[in-house]
Amino acid sequence: MSDDEAVEEYLFKIVIIGDSAVGKSNLLSRYARNEFNAHSKATIGVEFQTQSVEIDGKEVKAQIWDTAGQERFRAVTSAYYRGAFGALLVYDISRRATFENVSRWLDELNSHSDTTVARMLVGNKCDLENIREVSMEEGKSLAEAEGLFFMETSALDSTNVRTAFEIVIREIYNNVS
Ligand code: GDP
Ligand code: MG
Repeated sequence: MSDDEAVEEYLFKIVIIGDSAVGKSNLLSRYARNEFNAHSKATIGVEFQTQSVEIDGKEVKAQIWDTAGQERFRAVTSAYYRGAFGALLVYDISRRATFENVSRWLDELNSHSDTTVARMLVGNKCDLENIREVSMEEGKSLAEAEGLFFMETSALDSTNVRTAFEIVIREIYNNVS
């Protein structure tokens, strides 16, 4: 067997979307670098991080894109969505308005995707139980109604962050292989 045959490569683009300040950038920095920033400032321009996961003995790379703040101006461009095979749609369990905007983000995602996109609804900041405004049941039932995976996470204390990204990565792998 030649080297070409031995090495199969997978590279999947995943986008993170959702309202401003729900924790998108911190979910990515927690997953990719195990870092959390309490005072993260949006930087200008689109950025992504690449993470490798082993599935079925194969190296699968996820190129995970972060909006870098342009969602504040309602100007997430079609270039951001182009070629995405997976998406994390994030709201903040302590701010109800961010949950109410989920359907808007979902419409935008659907209108920009021409392939099967593995989609996960993420209720972030589950460490803020004392000021919760969206119950886990509401998140679950919205996800069920829309055919999305669902998970509550905390970028602050790391709850479910790796799991959320890896469920999406595995689903993409299953969709394409
Ligand atoms: P983005 O605008 O969606 O990228 O949100 P950021 O990642 O910049 O986070 C916005 C604010 O929420 C920052 O002050 C973060 O420190 C904070 N934050 C992000 N994730 C969490 C979390 O899981 N728990 C708590 N308590 N705060 C978080
Ligand atoms: Mg951000």
